[in-house]
Amino acid sequence: MLDITTPSSADASLVVTDLHKSFGALEVLKGVSLRACQGDVISLLGSSGSGKSTFLRCINLLETPNSGVIRVHGEEIKMTTDRHGVFKPSDARQVERIRARLAMVFQSFNLWSHMTVLENVIAGPMHVLKKSRSEATEKAHKVLERVGMYERRDYFPAHISGGQQQRAAIARALAMEPDVMLFDEPTSALDPELVGEVLKVIRSLAEEGRTMVVVTHEMAFARDVSSEVIFLHQGLIEEQGHPDQMFTDPKSTRFKEFLSNTR
Ligand code: ADP
Ligand code: MG
Repeated sequence: MLDITTPSSADASLVVTDLHKSFGALEVLKGVSLRACQGDVISLLGSSGSGKSTFLRCINLLETPNSGVIRVHGEEIKMTTDRHGVFKPSDARQVERIRARLAMVFQSFNLWSHMTVLENVIAGPMHVLKKSRSEATEKAHKVLERVGMYERRDYFPAHISGGQQQRAAIARALAMEPDVMLFDEPTSALDPELVGEVLKVIRSLAEEGRTMVVVTHEMAFARDVSSEVIFLHQGLIEEQGHPDQMFTDPKSTRFKEFLSNTR
């Protein structure tokens, strides 16, 4: 019988099914699945080397998975196995289009150093979304205001703090009007006193109902903000659930150990 209470894959913003990824002989992801519906905030936790970044990078095809299915708003990313047996996307234009809908924010900010904050924010909308400079600039002013960076719009990345650079990177992601935002340890490269301003922005995005997958070591953030927590261990989901349950009554010994090491 059709269960109408469960959103179908077509309703979900992002569905990843049984993703595998190896680098040579090293099997990094051994079948990882995830479903994010509109407004979900999924925190991805795990020790260093557990495959978190690889998973995010496979989702937006910065890395090519070895197998698995990725659907964005019901649209499956078309993959093919070529005559050498290599699994890869078969439609480059689809990849470009879908990648534009999955904005990624990196640990190391990755702003273009030769461009001002404003130029960083308008580049994607102009070149990928084909917006005019004036339209892109108008939107950029709004998103820069949103992250508290409007006053710094004409600065170069080297002349602002790490927290400001990361907020600019978040503005750059927002300017693309993404369906899903992927954050890979967005505060790990920051001096401790700058972490708060960036987390505050990410929290506010969560509160306004943005769909996000966040790799983080900020346990208070994961606990307060997520709708679901996934704990990855050696390329497999070891435990997943609602943060209230995961943090108060963890089932897996490995997750318990992980929590006791991060507190
Ligand atoms: P995490 O983000 O959880 O710390 P990663 O996804 O970065 O983990 O890495 C998982 C494993 O995959 C590590 O052993 C790492 O060395 C390896 N790895 C990641 N990227 C590559 C790559 N491009 N080539 C080879 N090995 C890689
Ligand atoms: Mg990582």
